[in-house]
Amino acid sequence: MIRFDIITIFPEIFDSYFNESIIKRAQKRKLVKINIHNLRDSATDRHHTVDSRPYSGGAGMILKADIILKAVKKIINRKINNKGRRIILFSAKGKPFNQNKARELAKKYEQVILICGRYEGVDERVAKYIADEEISIGEYVLTGGEIPAMVVVDAVSRLIPGVIKNESLKEESFTLEDKEYPQYTRPEILEPGKYLKNCKFCPPKFRKVKFWKVPKVLLSGNHKDIDDWKKKNS
Ligand code: SAM
Repeated sequence: MIRFDIITIFPEIFDSYFNESIIKRAQKRKLVKINIHNLRDSATDRHHTVDSRPYSGGAGMILKADIILKAVKKIINRKINNKGRRIILFSAKGKPFNQNKARELAKKYEQVILICGRYEGVDERVAKYIADEEISIGEYVLTGGEIPAMVVVDAVSRLIPGVIKNESLKEESFTLEDKEYPQYTRPEILEPGKYLKNCKFCPPKFRKVKFWKVPKVLLSGNHKDIDDWKKKNS
């Protein structure tokens, strides 16, 4: 079982995503545990203040390192048994998240603490003294670390043994590089014209090819040819 502890100022954001489909089942079956922690619960002042203005001026507010430290301390309240604990801060300037990082997290850690930034970011001392690493999910700036947290939890959970029931899907999770070939399903021949009657605004490219066909080799039943095609097209 892997345990995720997510620190955020918007805990409700996660309600819907983590309560559907594979991630929901994984929690039910106790393969994955997800705890959401409201950062404001660690702020003891009357207004539950979690942010403050940046030193040296500049726009916006910064999440405070002392409040994040208190939140993390509360979560690290028990001994880790076999595997390690990893503390991750989401940041646009972090290391890019990829399948290898997902594999590493799934394999090595029993507890993963995810710190979601907001506003203009997080006091740099969180990256320097609290987090083990900073992770970015792409070269763009989001308004907060909550979507990155969902991305990491999803990608890592799929790799926990037993989470994906279908064996071929599980295989896909472990060897993504080899498996990302184009996929097709029924119908074997799709005639777009049938669906586009009276569609004034459909782009011309929809009608450019009269029959959209599944590549013949995939219907051939010849496993060697199919494998070669998959390799060539992955
Ligand atoms: N310069 C700031 C930074 O540290 O990324 C931009 C702040 S951004 C508006 C607010 C928060 O969103 C960040 O603190 C970070 O937690 C999260 N964030 C934004 N873009 C991200 C990305 N590409 N990957 C991961 N987290 C991101």
